[in-house]
Amino acid sequence: MARATQAIIDLHALRENYQLAKRTAPHARAYAVVKANAYGHGVAQVANALKADADGFAVACVDEAITLRQLGILLPILVLEGPMDLAECQAAVELDLELAVHNQQQLSWLACLEGGSIHVLVKVDSGMHRLGFAVHEVPGVVSQLRGLSVVSDIQLMSHFACADEPEHPFVRQQIEALQTLAPMKLPMSLCNSAAVLTLPECHKQLIRPGIMLYGSSPLVDKTGPQLNLSPVMTLQSNIIALHDIRAGESVGYGQGFVADKDSRIAAVAIGYGDGYPRSAKNGTPVLIKGQMRPIAGRVSMDMITVDVTGLDVVLGDTVTLWGTGLSADVVAQHCDTISYELFCQLTSRVKFRYLGG
Ligand SMILES: *Cc1c(COP(=O)(O)O)cnc(C)c1O
Repeated sequence: MARATQAIIDLHALRENYQLAKRTAPHARAYAVVKANAYGHGVAQVANALKADADGFAVACVDEAITLRQLGILLPILVLEGPMDLAECQAAVELDLELAVHNQQQLSWLACLEGGSIHVLVKVDSGMHRLGFAVHEVPGVVSQLRGLSVVSDIQLMSHFACADEPEHPFVRQQIEALQTLAPMKLPMSLCNSAAVLTLPECHKQLIRPGIMLYGSSPLVDKTGPQLNLSPVMTLQSNIIALHDIRAGESVGYGQGFVADKDSRIAAVAIGYGDGYPRSAKNGTPVLIKGQMRPIAGRVSMDMITVDVTGLDVVLGDTVTLWGTGLSADVVAQHCDTISYELFCQLTSRVKFRYLGG
């Protein structure tokens, strides 16, 4: 039998999570964020599964938008980082993309365009200091855009730095900065998943949910299932070896685990060569036969080792690394990261299987 390492993608759960985002912000349109290969889930399958329901899609760059158009997606597509050169502006007009615009250089490219029309979202830097125009520059930028015949629609967008911690005072600071733009009466897009779930007053006209669509939590203190989200990706492999070791014996590179009692150790066919994080410490849970079992020893390229003492297992038994029954959010906590990174890190060695398409 072939190596069993696989990611099972539940497209039904994906659609349910999109509907949960819509119900949470019932008056807003919702662009499903499918950047980075749909957070590692496979953009073709994800976009096809959502296209009947979604109001549009959002991606990081023009190349990702071109991929969606090539897949036959006709819905609106927002490019979150905007164009990188004049040619990308021209492509955006031809492909009817919506562009975030965050600097004067991008404005100057738009001014060079002849013919066609384009939707622009002016990116406002409300405090994150990554992309965008300062709040006080925004009225000037908007009047510049109004002077360009190619620009047919103008909205404002911004991004929160700390929406994953709803009590964080910086959230209020950013909201106050944005309130000074309310008199412009332009449509706004402010919310990523965290803000969709925690800042209803910020839903405005357009939301941009990403991670919640994939069933993971954007909030530091909650997992996806605790927010009624369903995991979309279940990452699995199987047991390829079993060893009984004595108290005091060690497992794996650097003797990363030393048994404090006689123990049974399972080797499972997944490692950092598949994208399973090497930062997974001893004690990171995996799911075997409905039971949480701890990783014992360092993650290697092709394998992990798990303490299965007392569990009735045989070679070939399925092991779930994350997904249904074990939230990727929990695994991510053990690895000092976030589920976003776990999903994006999977390598081409993992086989993908799609359910509910
Ligand atoms: C990635 C991204 C999102 C989606 O964020 P999630 O936390 O995954 O919901 C929204 N807006 C912008 C600008 C982004 O870059």
